[in-house]
Amino acid sequence: EDISVDVAVIGAGGAGLAAAVQATDLGAKVVVIEKMPMVGGNTIRAAGGLNAVGTALQQAKGTKDSVEVMYFDTMKGGHWKNDPALVRVLAEKSASSVEWLLALGGDLRDVGLMAGASQARTHRPTGGALVGPEVIRTLYTAAKARNIDLRTNTQATEILKDKSGKVIGLKVKGKDGTYTIKSKAVVNAAGGFGANNDVVAKYVPRLKGFATTNHPGATGDGIIMAEKAGAQLIDMTEIQTHPTVVPKVGEMITEAVRGNGAVLINKDGKRFFNELDTRDAVSAAILKQKDGVAYLFFDSDMQKSLKATNGYIKQSYCLNGASLDEIAGKMGVDAATLKATMEDWKKGKAANKDAFGRADMPRNLDQGPFYAIMVTPAVHHTMGGIKIDTKTQVYNTKGEVIPGLFAAGEITGGVHGGNRLGGNAQSDIITFGRIAGQQAYIFAKQAD
Ligand code: ADP
Repeated sequence: EDISVDVAVIGAGGAGLAAAVQATDLGAKVVVIEKMPMVGGNTIRAAGGLNAVGTALQQAKGTKDSVEVMYFDTMKGGHWKNDPALVRVLAEKSASSVEWLLALGGDLRDVGLMAGASQARTHRPTGGALVGPEVIRTLYTAAKARNIDLRTNTQATEILKDKSGKVIGLKVKGKDGTYTIKSKAVVNAAGGFGANNDVVAKYVPRLKGFATTNHPGATGDGIIMAEKAGAQLIDMTEIQTHPTVVPKVGEMITEAVRGNGAVLINKDGKRFFNELDTRDAVSAAILKQKDGVAYLFFDSDMQKSLKATNGYIKQSYCLNGASLDEIAGKMGVDAATLKATMEDWKKGKAANKDAFGRADMPRNLDQGPFYAIMVTPAVHHTMGGIKIDTKTQVYNTKGEVIPGLFAAGEITGGVHGGNRLGGNAQSDIITFGRIAGQQAYIFAKQAD
């Protein structure tokens, strides 16, 4: 049955739910439509955390971080291909995004370091637990508390415009058929296309056949729909692989494992790269090793520092050994070589000079039991997408704003440039999701 609202949101991942909660709190009547049977999208799979600078939590730890440093790390990590204005907003508003989630009842009280960042700014649940489920729990609870009309198993199929080019709603397909949502503004937060290998390989042929960390709904139909409505797409060839995914199983091992101290060991029992380099660089380095794989290697000291590992060590893919001899046997590497590798690591740590240029070496990695997980890169994040500005307004191919259309999250391009830093997707979706909710509300009110 056709309905009429102020703001229609496509997608119930982090960006869509943040937009919906924000617009509702300002006074808008909102509907959220989600094609899958469940909410959460790729967001619920996010492991690492939410990067933010200047929170009370970060300051309590003592930090040299600043908006400038987060801006610099993000631009450098993205090979300076990012849209500088979007990155500035990402950094400036990051602390308030954390405060907002805390105020909604979320737990992001642990602050840690992630690859590609020069400072510890990744906010995650107490004890270093996985971030995505907590962010979605927080936003979904907030949406329920506000009685937001949230429709799962409902897919947007077309963005509707009037003759002047202004967006006036959506055509959707629900369980009981097709209907129209009349809305004064639309927020497109339908996520990326990492799970659609045909489209991935169309833009980056070398990724044909790659596994993905993405949820099955990350097929890119939201992007194609926006393109049909005239939206300009940018950076579509910028596709990120996550370096540490378990082969065949497809489970992503969070970057926080390396951030908290783990090293990468190849099948020859040797380290080969700075584990804290950016995702694209670490992925490429792993693919150059024997069989295109490496072991994530850590000790019990590191394991105890990160709750996210509790689940991993119970899985059969996680090898363990009481001694270096035992774990070397299970890994199929020469024990003497592994011991020498770990001695060199310790010497480097003591001298504060790592042979591979790693700046942060928090642990000796000499406390048994030891753990090793075989990993390889898989498609993780599509950095390209819809062109937006700092108000999340969507641009057409002529460079003009499409009135009434806003977009936020993985569906947009520009925030992450040529490579996304771990922890910046959560900042992106909360910060720009909230802006989209606010701007859609303002646009809807002006239409009244
Ligand atoms: P982000 O991190 O940007 O919030 P997510 O992947 O977490 O992105 O969420 C995007 C959500 O949008 C997913 O739950 C996905 O199933 C949903 N989605 C994708 N395409 C459509 C569509 N055409 N109609 C409704 N929902 C969609």
